[in-house]
Amino acid sequence: MAKLPVEPYVAQVRDLFQGIDLENKLVDQDKLDQAVELILEANKIDDPPVNVNDLAKRLNFDVYFLNLPQNILGVMFDTKEPFEYHSQRAIVLGSQYDNLRNIGTAAHEFGHYFMQCNADTDYYDTRHIEADTISEMNANRFRDTLLLPDGIVKKFLRKRQWRKWDKILEEARETFFVPRHLIRPRFERILKRSIVDDVVFDGSGLDG
Ligand SMILES: [Zn+2]
Repeated sequence: MAKLPVEPYVAQVRDLFQGIDLENKLVDQDKLDQAVELILEANKIDDPPVNVNDLAKRLNFDVYFLNLPQNILGVMFDTKEPFEYHSQRAIVLGSQYDNLRNIGTAAHEFGHYFMQCNADTDYYDTRHIEADTISEMNANRFRDTLLLPDGIVKKFLRKRQWRKWDKILEEARETFFVPRHLIRPRFERILKRSIVDDVVFDGSGLDG
């Protein structure tokens, strides 16, 4: 059998990462921003939250919830022959984990899917709780960029100038629906500076 087909934009996103040794090199944030922009555009996503469940459906992933072994957060595969559960392309999430954690795991797996899968090689990823390889870090950076996209975050922040950061971060958690600990580092990366809870956001870092 052949692997399940992909929409043209998926191939376009994968082309961005062609030739990059993702096992040994941290991918540029610019590339991740470009990739996520293509994904949002193709799926007509303009507003938060980025719904990973919808995205999984559109990408032809079967999604399963199982009681996973204790050190495993999730599994993803994309194969020529049906691999498990009669699926060729699936994400398995832990039924013991909360919704936000599973959203983070699914977005991480999309990172492998968009950056490392191709049209004709079987691919499997098992996401371990303590995984700190470069390849895992790259998938995490993809996750953060997908769930908190540069353009959408900037739009959100433009409307919140002159508010204190603790309030903004709280609102961001409800708006973007992502694990809380991912928000601050991503916002700091976007603004290229650090942020402090009880300090008012003056809008600096929003241009460029
Ligand atoms: Zn992974």
